[in-house]
Order: sequence, then structure tokens, then C-alpha cells
Amino acid sequence: MSPIDKLSALFEKFPGIGPRQARRFVQYLLVAAPALRGEIAEAVRSLGAQTAQCKKCYRWFPTEDSASTASTCAVCANTARERTLLFVVEKDADIDNVERSGYKGLYFVLGGIIPLASEEPEKHIRLRELLKRVEADKPVEIILGLSATTEGDHTRQILAEKLQKSTSKVSSLGRGLSTGSELEYADPDTIAQALGNRH
Ligand SMILES: [Zn+2]
Repeated sequence: MSPIDKLSALFEKFPGIGPRQARRFVQYLLVAAPALRGEIAEAVRSLGAQTAQCKKCYRWFPTEDSASTASTCAVCANTARERTLLFVVEKDADIDNVERSGYKGLYFVLGGIIPLASEEPEKHIRLRELLKRVEADKPVEIILGLSATTEGDHTRQILAEKLQKSTSKVSSLGRGLSTGSELEYADPDTIAQALGNRH
């Protein structure tokens, strides 16, 4: 396989990237300065060496930012956070957005969403890990911060069911997030409002 085909095939593995876009990336790199190609290659290499997945919330974090041990991220390690609140999100990018809303509790990243037709929720999200975390930490409240989409609603229902036996109060973001909107793209004020109206 030629280097062009090989790199195109690799880019095609990215979420939402098709063959044509993959080709465009490769074309861009072909005409880019060698220094930029080197910088990209180096950044990809150090991604593995300088990031780790948090053992508590499962987000990926830069290891040099970690306040305490390398096994937990700066948020989980920060004792000043409200440790009684657990905000459950679909993906890492949601956390950055929720942080901007002024939320001061802790997080858990599901790592996905449950498709409507699925019979096995644990294949799509970190369900077992979440139940373990809740059992160990016993948060007073678990906030389900899922997208206002059909799959988000479906996931919320299943989680609410699975968390029923826990001692935690389970709440959801209130209205404010418009139908179809994803947490990742909601503005911080809207999230703050939805948090204030949680039920
Ligand atoms: Zn963490």
C-alpha cells in the first residue's frame, strides 16, 4: 500500500470522516511544510506517553496536569470540589463544556450512549463501572447530563432504572437544553440554567 493510501485509510477510521475527507487531509499534509508533518507525528506519539485515563471518572487527561497521583485527573483529585455531586456525561468533551457553566462537583464519563435497539447496554457504555463508582462513593445526587436526543432519553431511562437501588437521588437536567441538542455544543449559560432546573 502506498503511503498516501495508508494514511488515507488511517484517517478514515476517525469518527465522521469519509474517504474523500481523508484524501483531503493527506493532500494537505503533502503540500504542508515538513516541519508541520513532524510536529503532527510527534504530537500523535506523545499523546500516548503524556496522557492517561482517569481511574475514577474515565476521562483522558494530561499527566503533567494531575494534582496528585497519575491515576486520577485534576478534578477527581481536587478535594475542594463538591464530592456529593456526580455528573454523568457521554464523553470527555462534555466535561469541558460543563466546567464552563460553573459546576463544582465530580464527573463520570459513560463513553457512549445506548442505541435504541440494543439489548446489551453494557456493550455501549461503562455501566458496570458507574454502578461500582456509585456503590463505593455513595454520592448524594447523580445528575444525568445526557443529550436531549431520542438515544439520550433512552440511555437516561435505563440508567435511572439501574440506579434505582442506590441510595443516591437521581436527577436530570431541566428544560433549557433544546430538543436534539448535544451537551458538547450547548453554551455554558444554558447548561447552568438546565442545572439549576434539574429535577
Ligand atoms: Zn477523573
